Amino acid sequence: MRSMRSLTVLGATGSIGASTLDLIRRNRDQWRVVALTAHANAGDLAKLALEFGAELAVVADEAHLPALREALAGSGVEAAGGPAALVEAAARGAEVTVAAIVGCAGLAPTMAAIEQGGVIALANKEALVSAGEVMMAAVARHGATLLPVDSEHNAIFQCLAGNRAEHVRWITLTASGGPFRDWSLERLQAATPAEAVRHPNWDMGAKISVDSATMFNKGLELIEAYHLFPVGLDRLRIIVHPQSVVHSMVEYRDGSTLAQLGPSDMRVPIASALAWPERMDTPCAPLDLAEIGELTFRKPDEARFPATRLAREAAQAGGGIPAVLNAANEISVAAFLHGQISFTRIAAYVEDVLGSYAPPPPASLSDVLEVDGEARARARTLVTST
Ligand code: NDP
Repeated sequence: MRSMRSLTVLGATGSIGASTLDLIRRNRDQWRVVALTAHANAGDLAKLALEFGAELAVVADEAHLPALREALAGSGVEAAGGPAALVEAAARGAEVTVAAIVGCAGLAPTMAAIEQGGVIALANKEALVSAGEVMMAAVARHGATLLPVDSEHNAIFQCLAGNRAEHVRWITLTASGGPFRDWSLERLQAATPAEAVRHPNWDMGAKISVDSATMFNKGLELIEAYHLFPVGLDRLRIIVHPQSVVHSMVEYRDGSTLAQLGPSDMRVPIASALAWPERMDTPCAPLDLAEIGELTFRKPDEARFPATRLAREAAQAGGGIPAVLNAANEISVAAFLHGQISFTRIAAYVEDVLGSYAPPPPASLSDVLEVDGEARARARTLVTST
């Protein structure tokens, strides 16, 4: 059996955080929890920190630090707040860091964890999309191990095991198509936030659920795959697979295609990353293909869902452009969730911001954050002028 390992969960109170801690709860003797973080949810964070005996609990929004302190008083768990404390938590050098903050807000702490040279189990795709080359260079420089938690990338990682990139003909990312995959353009215009977050297969946080509905999730994943698996953009493709059973595929030059299948439960890819290169048990129901009966596939429709085209163009342009796409999407998704803009405006505003801002390639974390900030400001201007 493996010796005890130390763990930090960035975004412990979210959907990925909960799935991660569910697995840790079942294997308590194998993990020592260093730090757990949240944005504002001090109550749940304190409960988790007490349950797992964390050394440190951090709320990114300092306004919630008094509540966190009060909930942890006398427990011996350190409480801290603010963006610098978040980075400090990530820099405490846990052997494994699960990066599960949503959005580019997770970039600075994820980079801090990478700089410690440990294992980073990456769910926070927006961080890699925004920082691209800057993050991958840091991974190489610090000897960190970046393991993908996103189910598609985890699937590809497993299908690539033991094979060289030059033998790859295609990497195919599967997409459920989201809750609106069969909706007409007219119907999409009136889609509500409640409808968008009701994903048919996966139970996820609000932002990624909307991304799944617009297909920006797949667009972000295309850029994520471009950095994680350097086979070239022209060998990455997307296919709609409504059942979400095949999580992605790799086709080799000899015509063999390897696919990874599993239940639509994020505990499977999280367990794969936590245990790698070993395997661990999960409580997930076994895959019952006879019960599922049918697996279907179809081409994405970029006329109704332009997000994957925009993401491909952003990856092709490279430099700071993917960070612009991501930031404009984050602002537009938040505006949609707050009822300020319609569903179809999300992609329209991302395209507008991309058309208005072409920053020079970022060379450092602070350059990326500057691009992110400017793109957010431009997207906010569009939202407020709606
Ligand atoms: P959730 O919204 O459920 O959770 C987000 C977590 O990040 C919470 O702990 C939240 O704290 C924290 N957080 C939010 N904003 C900030 C901020 N500004 N600064 C610091 N912390 C913040 O998201 P998910 O768990 O769904 O997604 C997390 C990441 O994983 C995303 O990048 C997503 O794309 C990716 N992912 C998610 C999947 C899923 O099934 N959910 C699947 C594959 C990838 P608080 O609770 O206090 O708000």
